[in-house]
Amino acid sequence: MIESKHIDRLRQIAGKENILTSKEELVAYSYDATNLWSHTPDVVVLPADTEQISEILKLANDNQIPVTPRGSGTNVSGGSIPIKGGIVLCTTRMTRILEINKTNLNATVEPGVILQDFNNALAKEGLFFPPDPQSSAGCTMGGVVAENSGGPSCLKYGVTKQYVLGLEVVLADGKIMKIGGLTPKNRTGYELIMLFTGSEGTLGIISKITLRLLPAPKANKTIVAVFGDVAIAGETVSEIIDSGVLPSKIEFVDNWTFEKFQGLLPPEILANAQAILLIEADGLPEIVETEARQIVDICKRSSTLEVRVPQDGEEAQKYWQARTAHFSDISSAAYTIVNEDVCVPRDRIAEFIRISREQARQNDVPLSIAGHAGDGNFHPVVLTDSRDREHFQRALKCVDEIIETALSLGGVLSGEHGIGLEKQRFLKKAMDPVAIDTMKKIKDVLDPNHILNPGKIWEEAPDEE
Ligand SMILES: Cc1cc2nc3c(=O)[nH]c(=O)nc-3n(C[C@H](O)[C@H](O)[C@H](O)COP(=O)(O)OP(=O)(O)OC[C@H]3O[C@@H](n4cnc5c(N)ncnc54)[C@H](O)[C@@H]3O)c2cc1C
Repeated sequence: MIESKHIDRLRQIAGKENILTSKEELVAYSYDATNLWSHTPDVVVLPADTEQISEILKLANDNQIPVTPRGSGTNVSGGSIPIKGGIVLCTTRMTRILEINKTNLNATVEPGVILQDFNNALAKEGLFFPPDPQSSAGCTMGGVVAENSGGPSCLKYGVTKQYVLGLEVVLADGKIMKIGGLTPKNRTGYELIMLFTGSEGTLGIISKITLRLLPAPKANKTIVAVFGDVAIAGETVSEIIDSGVLPSKIEFVDNWTFEKFQGLLPPEILANAQAILLIEADGLPEIVETEARQIVDICKRSSTLEVRVPQDGEEAQKYWQARTAHFSDISSAAYTIVNEDVCVPRDRIAEFIRISREQARQNDVPLSIAGHAGDGNFHPVVLTDSRDREHFQRALKCVDEIIETALSLGGVLSGEHGIGLEKQRFLKKAMDPVAIDTMKKIKDVLDPNHILNPGKIWEEAPDEE
């Protein structure tokens, strides 16, 4: 337990109204979007600026108090759960968009800015920040950078790390470090920006972010392709990419989510469907038209049950909303879900889906698969109930087998959710031991007392709740 004199010091630093200690308040910061773990912190601190973060970390480092950084807690790997208690340092008061510069195609923001607010501000300027974790209504820019978030548009535009130009980071001992800058090119020293992007709050607290932007695409077109066979849907993804077209998005949903497509697609088609691909081409209008035609032709050749092109943006949006609803639909379909995010090479997608479904059948557990198929990045979700130990053990066994399958096909453990608490037990299988050792040494140098997000990535996770 944190000593009361340290809580008093936190009150001096951030103001007493920004220190939360009641049981009800602490519970609100004890969990994230995973549902296997929770742990209450001793105190929640809501700093207003970089200097306050620096003072908080000095106090924590001098007294070896754990600090778990937190934005909105939407991550799905247990990353913001204060598993060792101590301080939750939450950035949601730091919400200023400091600059949007159209000529330089960059913007500087505080870490607590909500991604959707940022996107809305960019849209007014005709600008575009492509990474789009499907939690944009809630997630913060600090969380997006700390998780190196992705989303549907990464197929064409890449993930967050491709857009971070500059960072201000508060190190474990409270020192404030500025890295990178405002320019798209910068070859000065080591690429520390890449190190902190995706570091899951274990190396420093991100207190300011400068991002590269793009002009917003002038046009886009959605293509909806419905398949009676999941493997054919997977093969179609490869065929689209092989043809030389690069859509902005190719998203995959299996039949768990089809209820949301009712009213959008004919009932007799949905009754026989096993998978839907939602594809988007974007860019200049004439190029979008040509690419959309090419994609439609490929889908039609692939024994689809149905291929449609929504008439306008409003209709297209309904299909994308049905896709986005997958996570909330599946979350409410079972007491416990185990949601993974493996990534496999595109030419192994069909094989991955086929084997995973067979593994779920053999373990007799429900499995839903959705994901960013264009990147080979899938969210296999096993539905279970952690109160039913026997079912839960079968579910975990199935998850292990699916991850083994992805790795054996040349894939990776996490395409976008990070390691957090959720995937620690797979790390040794998924990473070169020399790389693990090197990363641990980096952690030791930057955070010798291991106060920053302790218990994450490197340590074996405790048993789930
Ligand atoms: C419905 C749903 C759909 C999702 N879809 C996607 C998707 O398609 N693609 C994808 O990539 N992700 C997805 N996610 C995951 C998640 O939304 C992202 O990882 C998000 O960017 C996290 O932001 P946050 O503010 O909620 O961060 P939090 O969850 O609060 O924190 C995430 C991690 O970052 C650390 N952290 C937070 N702020 C800072 C900071 N300022 N400095 C240092 N470390 C910090 C935390 O300690 C933690 O380890 C989805 C989540 C949900 C709930």
